[in-house]
Amino acid sequence: MAEDCIFCKIVTRQSRARIVYEDDLFMAIEDINPQAPVHILVMPKKHIPEIQHITNEDKELMKRWFWVAVKIASDRGLAKTGYRTVINDGVDGGQTVGHIHIHLLSGRKFSWPPG
Ligand code: AMP
Ligand code: ZN
Repeated sequence: MAEDCIFCKIVTRQSRARIVYEDDLFMAIEDINPQAPVHILVMPKKHIPEIQHITNEDKELMKRWFWVAVKIASDRGLAKTGYRTVINDGVDGGQTVGHIHIHLLSGRKFSWPPG
């Protein structure tokens, strides 16, 4: 838990969010500023600032992280039309919240390359 981290505050319920999934190690919330009809953020409860801080100790957590994202997509039937998963990392990657999260985006067609 990092004192000044908005996602840690959501995980510990010091801040409110629309929680769409929770288990012992993960939480998923609706993005406050959605970029698609479905925009969910899937995060480990553990405070890891950037994916470049992932260590070998986090190996099992990382596997489950993607499993949780895919499970949410599958439970919502998003795979029928497809979806996009995004991780922004660091300044040039466009990361604005320093607690790793997968963006799960769906409900419209996405273009490539990203902006
Ligand atoms: P990123 O820029 O990749 O770090 O993604 C951070 C995301 O968190 C953005 O899409 C924000 O809209 C979203 N966000 C920031 N604060 C909150 C919050 N309190 N509740 C839900 N989503 C948030
Ligand atoms: Zn945090």
